[in-house]
Amino acid sequence: MTAVIETRDLTKTYGTVRALDGLSLSIPRGGVYGILGPNGAGKSTLFRILLGLIRPSDGTATVMGGAIGDIAAMRRMGSMIETPRYPPYMSARQVLEWLALSHGVGATAGIPAWLERVGLTEAADRRVRGFSVGMLQRLGVAAALMSRPDLVILDEPTSGMDPPGIQEMRALIRSLADDDGVTVILASHQLLEVQKICDRVAILNRGKLILEGAVSELTAAGGERLRLTLSPVEAALAVLGERGSRDDDGVMAAIARDEAPALIRALVQQGIDISEARWVGADLESIFMTETGAAEAGRGEQIHAG
Ligand code: ATP
Repeated sequence: MTAVIETRDLTKTYGTVRALDGLSLSIPRGGVYGILGPNGAGKSTLFRILLGLIRPSDGTATVMGGAIGDIAAMRRMGSMIETPRYPPYMSARQVLEWLALSHGVGATAGIPAWLERVGLTEAADRRVRGFSVGMLQRLGVAAALMSRPDLVILDEPTSGMDPPGIQEMRALIRSLADDDGVTVILASHQLLEVQKICDRVAILNRGKLILEGAVSELTAAGGERLRLTLSPVEAALAVLGERGSRDDDGVMAAIARDEAPALIRALVQQGIDISEARWVGADLESIFMTETGAAEAGRGEQIHAG
């Protein structure tokens, strides 16, 4: 597993605030990697350090195998940090042409394809003055991708977007990883979104790494349960005892995988009709809450499940 980003004991202090506190993280090449954390966790500080915008107080980081600020490594990276701002009198197309020329990407021939990719073809010749936040974010993503980077860093790429916009951005991010082989690193509070599009996540809290791993493994380890749609529910609850709980038109069974066949046999023997059985993992939100203690001191209200 080659890493696109490696940090070792990365620390950034602002007076007495430790925005990053000894962060050691290895982000593998390929796929979509999510950096999660409540407000003030240090996500933007990490991105700013990786992009060479601020210097760490201590520790080291490498990006694409090069030191931070290494021009060859930086050229292989694209980024969008916060909602981008562009000259308001330019059209979306002009913005991309201007950036292509000023960043030395040179060829502007690919611009219509990038506008199409981010869903801005129809708005291509409108001035960005009238663009919504979502449209600016999409233009920002096109700008980040034009140089054909191997790695893109996106800070809250769906903030300020409506649900259809979020869905389009999600599909775009997934296709960058799956079809173009770009490694995407994004920061988000939107846990449901992260769960849907990220392959791996790191959870930060107060500048420290709390948990890191594949989303599928984290959610499975967080307490997998068997969801059974069945009737009558009361009879099933009687069979399950303490290990069962009601869930709408069915039950949740807190059992191990190898206990499932015996449980299903027992339920059928009791004359219970089972119409569906599926394993469900813990969601990232509950893992996040547990790991960050985000519910403490009302910090949890800053986290959204979707
Ligand atoms: P958010 O989700 O709100 O964007 P974040 O996880 O990106 O939060 P950071 O912006 O990295 O968090 O901030 C981490 C901590 O560092 C916060 O306590 C913040 O107040 C502090 N901080 C960040 N930048 C500065 C700065 N320029 N001067 C002083 N303190 C700062």
